Amino acid sequence: MAVSDHVDLPTFMEGVRKRNPHQPEFVQAVQEVAEDIYEFIEDKEEYHAQQILRRIAEPDRVVSFRVCWEDDNGNIRVQRGYRVQNNNAIGPYKGGIRFHPSVNESVLKFLAFEQTFKNALTGLPMGGGKGGSNFNPKGKSVREIMRFCQSFMTELYRHIGADVDVPAGDIGVGGREIGFMFGQYKRITNQFTGVLTGKGLEYGGSLIRPEATGYGAVYFLANMLATKGEDLVGKTAVISGSGNVATHAAEKIVQLGGKVLTLSDSGGFVHDPDGFTQDKIDWVKTHKTHRRGRIQDYVEAFPKATFHEGKTPWGVPCDVALPCATQNELLGEDARTLVANGCKALAEGANMPTDLEGVHVFKAARLLYAPGKASNAGGVAVSGLEMSQNSERRAWKEEELQQMLKDIMFGIHQSCLTYGDQGGGYVDYVKGANIAGFKKVADAMLAFGVV
Ligand code: GLU
Repeated sequence: MAVSDHVDLPTFMEGVRKRNPHQPEFVQAVQEVAEDIYEFIEDKEEYHAQQILRRIAEPDRVVSFRVCWEDDNGNIRVQRGYRVQNNNAIGPYKGGIRFHPSVNESVLKFLAFEQTFKNALTGLPMGGGKGGSNFNPKGKSVREIMRFCQSFMTELYRHIGADVDVPAGDIGVGGREIGFMFGQYKRITNQFTGVLTGKGLEYGGSLIRPEATGYGAVYFLANMLATKGEDLVGKTAVISGSGNVATHAAEKIVQLGGKVLTLSDSGGFVHDPDGFTQDKIDWVKTHKTHRRGRIQDYVEAFPKATFHEGKTPWGVPCDVALPCATQNELLGEDARTLVANGCKALAEGANMPTDLEGVHVFKAARLLYAPGKASNAGGVAVSGLEMSQNSERRAWKEEELQQMLKDIMFGIHQSCLTYGDQGGGYVDYVKGANIAGFKKVADAMLAFGVV
């Protein structure tokens, strides 16, 4: 009889920590999943015997490479680029590229691990991957960004492909950067394929891809509220971030009758007691994305608002909250503050914005709490639809895509109910998302045997 991995959770996690020293974000992401999966697989001998969890928590490969580029002053700059291909059991690796000084192997491994479950939850055939670089786009000229993107793709191209690995955007990578990278991929390979998503509409992009993550998060929030017979009309919302996810989440909250009180960036948060209207959100979009400005400038344009330097917005009383900035931006004490202030529901637009302590606080308070892998899956879902359109060489209509996004978010919510309903009116969405995502990938892996 073979030895199965019937080790207990602390022993399993000790192994993860040992094998991944100095990778706290990756260890955190594995722990959050393992806490739920351990319970689920307790009586499932095959998952143990085949070491499924152990295998999903070990990326298929991590590619790391040098990226050289020349800045506008003629200096040669050297950055590190990565692609983490976590798991392709149910489809080609899929996941964004992040350009931010905080990028390292731990951050990308955690993101690729999370992406594996998130992509499974969408119901579309996509595996999990993530890539990026510690390149900081802030303060760089457009030409510098172009040269960096080209250099990055000159190495990355050999590791990706429409049926192999399909990157997209993430923090620091939007339509412009995808354009530069797609142009370089096409130039090197002489192939026009759906190798990246988040492309411009002129060259194979999909309608509603930019809106999809933020809109999807709000649809998920609305689905959670509906289980209590409630909706967003008249509800106050606190949102962090002011990029693509945050501004589109704000837009959808407003469309559904809610009132958005805050947005933020790394310098602090803005509180607008009158609420962010569509005009104000458009101002933020232009200011942050096109002018690359700071959120604090908002108070000059709209003097009733206040700026809170170096602070996160979690102390502002609200009915619903959407962390849409970055990982570990909402800590245990912030979670306690939100609960004490009467927050009813929280949907994560960012990836792992709540630390482990915060997750435990929300679970203990039985909050309607959606982890990013469920609530922010709308972005990658529409990326999956972009891949389908590219394969078919056609473009679907906006109404069709809007409906598909809504249906997919509804489906993810249903999957969370299936595996997360604890009875007594409480749904543990973290558990539901982890188990539903895990089961699909795990069952595919079982079918393949030991590979
Ligand atoms: N970066 C996004 C995410 O975290 C989107 C990835 C994609 O579209 O492939 O899910």
